Amino acid sequence: MEKLVSLCQRRGFIFPSSDIYGGLSSCWDYGPVGVELKRNVKEAWWRANVRDRDDMVGLDTSILMNPRVWEASGHVTAFSDPLVECKKCHQRFRADDLPPEAEGKCPNCGGDFTEPQQFNLMFKTFIGPVEDAASVVYLRPETAQGIFVNFANVLNTSRKRLPFGIAQIGKSFRNEITTGNFIFRSREFEQMEIEYFVRPGTDDEWFAYWTNERLKFYGSLGIRKENLRLRQHGQDELAHYSRCCSDIEYNFPMGWAELEGIANRGDYDLKQHMEYSGKGLTYLDEATNQHIVPYVIEPSAGVDRTVLAVLCDAYDEEPDKDEIRVLFHFHPDVAPVKVAVLPLSRKENLAACAKDVYASLRPCFATQYDDTQSIGRRYRRQDELGTPYCVTVDFQSLEDNMATIRERDTMNQIRVPTAALADTLAKKLAGEDILVLPEGGVIWKEETKGG
Ligand code: ATP
Repeated sequence: MEKLVSLCQRRGFIFPSSDIYGGLSSCWDYGPVGVELKRNVKEAWWRANVRDRDDMVGLDTSILMNPRVWEASGHVTAFSDPLVECKKCHQRFRADDLPPEAEGKCPNCGGDFTEPQQFNLMFKTFIGPVEDAASVVYLRPETAQGIFVNFANVLNTSRKRLPFGIAQIGKSFRNEITTGNFIFRSREFEQMEIEYFVRPGTDDEWFAYWTNERLKFYGSLGIRKENLRLRQHGQDELAHYSRCCSDIEYNFPMGWAELEGIANRGDYDLKQHMEYSGKGLTYLDEATNQHIVPYVIEPSAGVDRTVLAVLCDAYDEEPDKDEIRVLFHFHPDVAPVKVAVLPLSRKENLAACAKDVYASLRPCFATQYDDTQSIGRRYRRQDELGTPYCVTVDFQSLEDNMATIRERDTMNQIRVPTAALADTLAKKLAGEDILVLPEGGVIWKEETKGG
């Protein structure tokens, strides 16, 4: 993890928040490369769960909501963790998250703890100019409630029939007692949540369906199967309204931990909001002409944890001659930079040619132009950014109108006519083998791994 954190900082993926002021505990800023990676993850999720489906619609609800929402959802009374404080060093911990080897003592100094107290994780603020109890509002601790309170709005405007779902991506805030492991647990983070409404009685099969879909999604981001597992919650872990819950866990450097939770929440949320708001949140079943309260399946994922899993899974170090090559094997769909254009030298005529190539590729892919330092260094830099393909323009390009494409993972190179570059790169990014040549192309360099 330390190597990853330092590489992320060095290459502009992720910085500590307010870095020049010494940072702010467990808040992170995504840099120029990180923001692209994060957007790609969100885009892949949105495409898979909204755009490519007829039974889903999207939503973008506000972070500040009427505080009654959080009374109805149970967050005001029950969204808390048990907090203990060391009597000696006064450090605070989550009582249910202490390392077993600490044996109930402070992991910091071995001191005794106070009795656990329930600590509510919601951040409070005030709405309007008066700071009193009546103006207290919360920063949402999950995006899901924005979906439930809009159930009738969406139903009335989209005319969806059961089963259908509503998806949302957005920021959530939790005043976590203990944070850490980089972006795994922070106090400000993003979630990607689905509420999928189904007929009561069909919920078990939809729960199984979504568990499978969600596992497939992580595979589509290039995450290896062996690093994913499903953990079903025991009866003692389930909230009283929850009918069933499974976590998709990833094998992070600190061990297996939750990437996403999938829950069968029954009709709890809609019923709670009906009771607290006095509004009808039912569905008129055309077949029977009866109003029913749908059950809901909730796949709830974290953007930042997904980004962390993508980073961990793609990170690699391999021997390369006398050195170690560090690279990210990002799946092309999430890679922040898809193509880098590298002129062999900064000489004017070569730069002009390389800039033309760059201009032709930039509308098609996230493309970088890099002409600083030696070509070897630039390849290494692009490897550390996880760029799948580098296009090198050399002096021969001025004569034969060809450029080389170097693949990140194999380091194999082919030389293709510049007019065919965009088309060839599109095919390679879609999965074609690097050694498949377009018309007029030649194999330039075939590497033996580690040689
Ligand atoms: P945990 O047990 O790790 O605290 P949780 O079960 O409370 O997580 P959920 O309420 O199910 O988490 O939230 C859904 C998803 O939101 C989680 O699977 C995770 O990916 C993400 N998430 C929750 N809390 C955080 C956090 N503090 N930082 C980053 N991501 C988070």
